[in-house]
Amino acid sequence: MSEKIKITKKKGGQIQFMAEGITPAFANALRRIMISEVPAMAVEWVEMHQNSSALFDEVIAHRLGMIPIGFDPEKFNLADDCKCKGKGCPSCEVAFSVEKSGPCIVYSGDMKSSNKDVKATDPRFPIVQLLKGQTIKLDAFTRVGTGKNHIKWQAAIASYSYSPDAVNEEKENINVCPKHMPSILSRKKTVVDSEKCEICRLQSNPSRFMFRVESASGLDPEYIVSRAAQILAQKAEDFKKEIGRELS
Ligand SMILES: [Zn+2]
Repeated sequence: MSEKIKITKKKGGQIQFMAEGITPAFANALRRIMISEVPAMAVEWVEMHQNSSALFDEVIAHRLGMIPIGFDPEKFNLADDCKCKGKGCPSCEVAFSVEKSGPCIVYSGDMKSSNKDVKATDPRFPIVQLLKGQTIKLDAFTRVGTGKNHIKWQAAIASYSYSPDAVNEEKENINVCPKHMPSILSRKKTVVDSEKCEICRLQSNPSRFMFRVESASGLDPEYIVSRAAQILAQKAEDFKKEIGRELS
């Protein structure tokens, strides 16, 4: 069976695409890799120098960790794969500093980066509110990691559904499916938008999938999909090598 892929919607950090000619097992493997194995960047270590805010150090560190960080994935290594062996170096780590005094709200835009190409995906994530006389001063260090180790490194929210086949005009369900109303009114019983169809999903095609991928990190959804496919191919390659060694 030959595979066919068509992007049907693209908006901001989201894409929707149809993949045809694949099996449910393949679709699910791709989904799981997008969620838990595509590397993303997040704050991993925080040095708190001063904190007279109402929040505990741990709560602020946790909030920093959940802020998605935009970065070029080709320029950073996973900490474990880095030549520094995970100690932290410019190839696997970026430092941010925050220093603010109240009254104000500290936002992700107040995180000063040591690398001009790496910053929070949006400057408006609130971190902590400071009252008059309260101060916060900290250094935060990011790491590249994967969602299977911590949700803060989850690259995307990914899901799929079977895509319905075009419905046979003679089938009864076309008359009760509300999404077909416009076509019925025009006396033509044809599928208007098979992707939006609800009742006709009874005739789902198990080799055609509608994927929805929303970036939850600083990565583009298109990159996440192609990186997931690359990781899956690498797994197959590694398996082939292992089995070759075992059989030889
Ligand atoms: Zn390193």
